[in-house]
Amino acid sequence: MKHASRPLSVAECSRILRRSIALGVALWLGGPVLQAQPAAPASTYVVNDSHFHLTNYVQQGTDIHDFLRIMGDKVGRVALFGIPLQQTWAYGNTGDFAPTYYLQSDAPLYYYSFTDAFIAMAYRSLPPAEQARVDPMITGFSPADMYAADHIRRVLQTFPGVFSGIGEFTIHKEFVSAKVAGETASLTNPALDRILDLAGEVGLVVLLHNDIDVPFPKPGQDPYPVVQLTQVLKRHPKTTVIWAHCGLGRIVRPVKDQIGMIERGLSNPDLPNLYIDISWDEVAKYLVATPETTQATADLINTHADRFLFGTDEVAPTEQAKYLKVYDIYAPLFAKLTPDASEKVRQGNYERLFDDARRKVRAWEKANRK
Ligand SMILES: [Zn+2]
Repeated sequence: MKHASRPLSVAECSRILRRSIALGVALWLGGPVLQAQPAAPASTYVVNDSHFHLTNYVQQGTDIHDFLRIMGDKVGRVALFGIPLQQTWAYGNTGDFAPTYYLQSDAPLYYYSFTDAFIAMAYRSLPPAEQARVDPMITGFSPADMYAADHIRRVLQTFPGVFSGIGEFTIHKEFVSAKVAGETASLTNPALDRILDLAGEVGLVVLLHNDIDVPFPKPGQDPYPVVQLTQVLKRHPKTTVIWAHCGLGRIVRPVKDQIGMIERGLSNPDLPNLYIDISWDEVAKYLVATPETTQATADLINTHADRFLFGTDEVAPTEQAKYLKVYDIYAPLFAKLTPDASEKVRQGNYERLFDDARRKVRAWEKANRK
């Protein structure tokens, strides 16, 4: 770690002052001054990121050490993963143009399992204090493959002490799902049940992308993805599932009853395992589009404050301003949350879910050592 010598900032001075006061109070009370926990400086972090891609659709990205610097003193912890899908560079389709995004080529995407080893090795290259801020996730499997659960188990046993969850992986996603080589993923595929059974058994947090509806729905049509997702969640009550982007997408936009659907899901006593992330700038632009949408979203979050998590969904950022763009877009929404809800969405819910996952996954790894 590099530390330039510089004058203390106001925040640092007040932190030192607070600690001195706390120490004085502890001495005055005759309480134990030296506690089991090392005297870490009080956090200046403003948010945890439950949804971050270190690499892009051609497995290139930000060096993890640079990324820790980009998190800086703003982002405390991050759920970090690559992208399971690799965009083929098909010469017959785009010639010398090398596509780096799924919208830049008609050639298929395929599952790139090496991403998990790459992410594990990147994580292991960090010093322990920085590892403590990162929750790596396993993504390199096809959710349409009955063997996918075996891949996840193999990754955990090959890299014990690393992973906290699985995802982001995708079932229904506009433009993407139809491009994936091999069998099309489905919420009704027993391969997905095997994956979610294992996640529940191990304690892995699941981060699932599943569009709430098709891109251009016919009026009055029931969104089958919501019905099927509800059934999936009910079949796996012990599995914690974070529904990425509240099911929204680039053009899958808030259907009229979207807030109602999410409200019903979160109020359903049969779905205590459902959590929602509000990541992606494409989603933020819908949620804070008008004062009315912002208020409706804030009301929903205030009512179910334990169930929402902030995430960026940034891919391979090069600087903090770009990385935290979506956090800034949400400023009007955060302003309308109660202090309790704001803290939970930005930090508390992440810590609760991922601390729990770390504990359980480490215990499973210990019991299932090869
Ligand atoms: Zn994502």
